[in-house]
Amino acid sequence: MSCLFCKIVNGEIPSTKVYEDEHVLAFEDIAPDAPVHTLVIPKQHVTSLMDLNDPALMQHLIKACQQVAKDKGVDDGFRLVTNIGEDGGQSVFHLHFHLIGGRPLSWPPG
Ligand code: 5GP
Ligand code: ZN
Repeated sequence: MSCLFCKIVNGEIPSTKVYEDEHVLAFEDIAPDAPVHTLVIPKQHVTSLMDLNDPALMQHLIKACQQVAKDKGVDDGFRLVTNIGEDGGQSVFHLHFHLIGGRPLSWPPG
């Protein structure tokens, strides 16, 4: 499996873990865009949100995002983004939510 984030899940590539349970891993983005920039991913390979068909897994992912936001102290304001496909700016084709915060975030994103 050549997927970068699958390699992070199985420990082949090191990461700074923020949260882990049976189904979900969260780790620090290597090139943070804000004081808080954590990636929340399913442990099983899912290419993008368009391939996420398991409601239980979706719930695990959202719960994990809520937990990470609390643990990082940004639960009163943060942004959750998932890029889908090349036109959507996705560069790693394993579903991930960018959890971004710790500074004021403009909209639309600059
Ligand atoms: P995308 O562009 O697919 O929405 O987001 C991919 C994210 O993965 C980028 O924010 C990028 O900085 C991050 N990233 C790429 N390679 C690595 C890596 O090896 N380790 C970590 N922790 N993050 C990575
Ligand atoms: Zn993968």
